[in-house]
Amino acid sequence: MVKFMAKVGIIGAGPAGIFAAINIKNSNNEVYLFDKNDKIGRKLLLTGNGRCNITSGKVYDDFLDHIIRNKDFLYSSFSTFDNFAMIDFLNRNKIETLIEEDDKVFPKSMKASDIVNLFEELIRKKQVKFLANTKVFSVNKDGRFNLETSKGQMEFDILVIACGGLSYPKTGSSGDGYKFAKSFGHTLIEPLPSLCPLYLKKTLPIKALSLSDIEIRAYTDDKVFSEVGDILLTPNFITGPAALRLQARGARSRITKISIDFKRNIDDLDRILINYLDKNPKKAIGNSLKGFLTESLIETLLDEVPISKNKPSNQITKEERKKLASLIKNFTLETRKNINFNSAVVTSGGVKTTEINPKTMESKLVEDLYFVGEVIDIDGLTGGFNLQIAFTTAYSASLAIKEKL
Ligand SMILES: Cc1cc2nc3c(=O)[nH]c(=O)nc-3n(C[C@H](O)[C@H](O)[C@H](O)COP(=O)(O)OP(=O)(O)OC[C@H]3O[C@@H](n4cnc5c(N)ncnc54)[C@H](O)[C@@H]3O)c2cc1C
Repeated sequence: MVKFMAKVGIIGAGPAGIFAAINIKNSNNEVYLFDKNDKIGRKLLLTGNGRCNITSGKVYDDFLDHIIRNKDFLYSSFSTFDNFAMIDFLNRNKIETLIEEDDKVFPKSMKASDIVNLFEELIRKKQVKFLANTKVFSVNKDGRFNLETSKGQMEFDILVIACGGLSYPKTGSSGDGYKFAKSFGHTLIEPLPSLCPLYLKKTLPIKALSLSDIEIRAYTDDKVFSEVGDILLTPNFITGPAALRLQARGARSRITKISIDFKRNIDDLDRILINYLDKNPKKAIGNSLKGFLTESLIETLLDEVPISKNKPSNQITKEERKKLASLIKNFTLETRKNINFNSAVVTSGGVKTTEINPKTMESKLVEDLYFVGEVIDIDGLTGGFNLQIAFTTAYSASLAIKEKL
């Protein structure tokens, strides 16, 4: 049991740590928020390309279906503080929100900096002590929690680990939370990059191409799965919403190759090709196919068959045409083995969820130790789900901590 004016230490001033701090602070406690950066919310500023897709407008089950790993862990805390509670919190604090395509919620100003400014103001108002440029090196518990920091040693009654994962390590999320969790005996599910581009083994001779409504399939050693939507195909990687979703779903298994169906709504592609070629029998095939396929893609596909783009349409053999049709429906590319965290939006993996109380975020191994945000083995797709995980877990921890104090 913790005594009056308890000291709460929170390591990490990302969305999870900040939200925990402003919700824990009351007249019964002192809250210290540590970050190795000079300001709060360094990664938060980058979210949604600087616009901050702060949460999703999807309703309960639909929302939870976008949590890829360990969504069951979120049920309890999400019932306490869900996406609509977050929108309400923002609106009460004079941040107007709007819902864009696919139910993505943004601040109306489209500025992540407005969210960071609000959090800075709340930290000041609530008198949370923010320790900027303060790196925590190690933590241990001997009665109280002892923290070794770049500004000296400090002791706390309650400790919240909100260090994030490993993605975009230059923002400060460099995996320290995992080290701290392990030092308390927690199990770590191997952190792997998620929501990152699919890197290609061989460079493609194309210009970057934005493609809509295509089907992209991933192959691992034992599974094939697919996504439909928009992608950006570049010489060295594939990104865009459908590619990111695909990578995230396969993040824990190795995707060895991917294949793209450029015309997923057309079954009898051979007949369509015949029509295009017959319409302009003397025209070079490279020109005949314009209007049906993007120019840069035509060249790549013809090279792959191989057919010269200058070959007259009426001289294309049946075999060449069939091969072209098959490439349009099933354009296969090998993917690179090594991907890193520098371009991953989130980390898949982290502190094992079965060792954390899903209602309170308290460690089941160490009393008064809490985990919030991306450091936990839970992650979602793009669309505001990962920030909401941070807010939901932080809020639940704050309720439980305040109840103790
Ligand atoms: C480019 C990009 C865009 C994104 N866009 C979106 C989006 O639009 N919507 C969405 O929902 N999600 C988005 N995400 C994901 C989302 O930003 C993260 O899931 C979220 O920030 C995790 O919050 P967190 O507080 O758990 O960790 P973080 O935001 O990673 O914060 C952890 C903090 O802990 C600090 N820290 C770590 N170790 C120590 C230590 N030893 N001592 C002191 N401080 C330490 C770090 O400096 C950091 O500030 C995006 C991610 C990236 C990289």
